[in-house]
Amino acid sequence: MRIVLMGPPGAGKGTQAELLTSELNIPHISTGDMFRKALREGTPLGMEAKEYMDKGQLVPDHVTVGIVKERLAQDDCQQGFLLDGFPRTVAQADALEQTLKELGVKLDYVINIVVKREDLLERLTGRRVCKACGATYHIKYNPSEKGDRCQNCGGELYQRSDDTEATVANRLDVYGQQTAPLIAYYQKKDILLDVDGNNAVQEVTKNILQLLRKEQI
Ligand code: ADP
Ligand code: ADP
Ligand code: ZN
Repeated sequence: MRIVLMGPPGAGKGTQAELLTSELNIPHISTGDMFRKALREGTPLGMEAKEYMDKGQLVPDHVTVGIVKERLAQDDCQQGFLLDGFPRTVAQADALEQTLKELGVKLDYVINIVVKREDLLERLTGRRVCKACGATYHIKYNPSEKGDRCQNCGGELYQRSDDTEATVANRLDVYGQQTAPLIAYYQKKDILLDVDGNNAVQEVTKNILQLLRKEQI
């Protein structure tokens, strides 16, 4: 299955992507994770991306499209994939369509996780991420059983530098201006599935899997 997971920052894309990809056995492709990895490794891509991420702006389309194109050409994506946080602009969506066309495949579904704006700020400022394995937690809604250590791998939990109140406000505005138009874009293509992201994590996963199964019949 070839899926895009959409939704504003904090909607739960990363959290759901982990659960869905292990259930569906497809690779999880997160552009945000790819940029953060490049930054940790100190590559030119990481340095360039950091300038934008720190301000809560989008990394330019040509950079982002380039890394996704490369990733989709790899062997493990041939049987399907889940894109998390890409596309985020109409230009990226057009580029994705073109790339898939060249590979002779099509997107099956775009899952749009819907969460009220007032809840997003609390979700993002309370988010904690494992330094070692990237697992996502929330201090209130999804705490690690091991306190400030990751319950999967024991790694140290940290707060992303762009999860501060000022940067979050900017990211939500950027989402409204540049990413939200993709909802209509994919509605028109008749592959958009809305899911209520205000429910508990496991409930959201269950609803997404149910939607996908229903569509498959
Ligand atoms: P995104 O990738 O869309 O930015 P995340 O998956 O990182 O979102 O989730 C943002 C924050 O909200 C994290 O701290 C996560 O633990 C928490 N979270 C995710 N899903 C839910 C949910 N259904 N209810 C409450 N909190 C959630
Ligand atoms: P979020 O929790 O906001 O969904 P991500 O980890 O997906 O966070 O993205 C973090 C940052 O990485 C974004 O604010 C942006 O600067 C950059 N980024 C991630 N994906 C894209 C993309 N598809 N296009 C442009 N920039 C991106
Ligand atoms: Zn971990």
